[in-house]
Amino acid sequence: MRPEVSNKRLINCEIVDVNQLMPIKYQWAWEHYINGCANNWLPHEIPMGDDAALWKSDRLTDDERLLLMRNFGFFSTAETLVANNLSLAVFKHVTNAECRQYLLRQAFEEAIHTQAFLYICESLHLPAGEVFNMYRELSVIEAKDRFQMELTSAIVDPHFSTVTSQGAALFLENLIGYYVIMEGIFFYGGFAMVLAFQRQNKMRGVCQMYEFILRDETIHLNFGIDLINGIKEENPDLWTPSIRRRVVERVKEAVELEARYTEECLPRGIFGLRPESFRRYIEYLADRRLERIGLPLYYGSDNPLSWMSEAIDLHKEKNFFENIVTEYRPASSLEWNNSNS
Ligand code: MN
Ligand code: FE
Repeated sequence: MRPEVSNKRLINCEIVDVNQLMPIKYQWAWEHYINGCANNWLPHEIPMGDDAALWKSDRLTDDERLLLMRNFGFFSTAETLVANNLSLAVFKHVTNAECRQYLLRQAFEEAIHTQAFLYICESLHLPAGEVFNMYRELSVIEAKDRFQMELTSAIVDPHFSTVTSQGAALFLENLIGYYVIMEGIFFYGGFAMVLAFQRQNKMRGVCQMYEFILRDETIHLNFGIDLINGIKEENPDLWTPSIRRRVVERVKEAVELEARYTEECLPRGIFGLRPESFRRYIEYLADRRLERIGLPLYYGSDNPLSWMSEAIDLHKEKNFFENIVTEYRPASSLEWNNSNS
C-alpha cells in the first residue's frame, strides 16, 4: 500500500517514512526550498576592491571600524552555530521529507554565509583569528552564543527524544531559539548595523553581501515560523501556558543580550543613530516575531529604523539575479490557453 499524505507528520511520524517525498503535504516547505534555490550566490562573485581601498584609507572612523569588526565577529561564528544546530539537532527530529529537503538547502546556505565572512576577512586583510575567535573572547558575543548553544546541547544528548511531551517541548524551544531568536532577532539587529553603512554609500561590497545574506535569512525565518506553527497545530497539547511563558522569557533575555552587544558595537552611536534607536528596533523585531508564533506583543515599540523595513521589502520586488536566473515555474503552475493562442 502506498502511504496516505494525511499520515505525514512534522515530528514523530510513525507511518510515512522520511524518504517519501511525494505526495507533498507541506507545500510551504517545498516553496521555501524552490525560493532558496532561486537565490544562488557565492561570496567571491561580489567585488570587494572599493571596500578594501576604503578600509586601508583614513576615510573610516575608529567607531565605524569597531562596529564592523564586532559585527563580523558575531556573524562569522553565528552562521556555524546555526549550521551545526540544523544538521546535528534539528534534521534528525524533523520526520518529513519535504521539510528535510529545505533543511539541506538551508544548511548549504549557512556554509556559504560562513564562507562569506572568511572572504570579507581575506578581502579587507582583517585578522581572521581575531574575528573568528570573538565568540570566545568578547563577552557580549560569548553570552549570546552560550545562550544559543544551551539549546543545542539539550538535544544532541543521545538519550533525547521528541516522543515524550517534555522532549517535544524542548525541541520546539530549540526551533524558536534558533529560527525566531538567533536568525529572527540577533541576525536582523546585525544586518541593521551594517546596512546603515549602505545609506552612507560606504562598504558597498560588504553591504551587498549582507543583502544577499538577509534575503536568505528571510526565507530561513519564514520556513522556521511555518515549521514551528505547524508543529504547534499538529501537537496542540505542546503549546501550554508554561512553554509560552518560557518562550517570552527567552525572547526578553535575548533582547537584553542584543542590547548589551549593540552598546559595545556602537558605544557612541553611528551616523547619528543612537544605541537607543537600535534597542528600540530590537524590541520592535521581538514583537513582530512573538506575533508570528501567536504570542502577544510585549514591548509595543515602534520601528525607529523604517529604512530597514524598506531594505527588507525591496527583496520582494527587486530581482537581484535577473541576469543569472530565470524565474522557476513548476509545470503545475503553467496555464494553457488554447483559445487565444
Ligand atoms: Mn545564515
Ligand atoms: Fe540562516
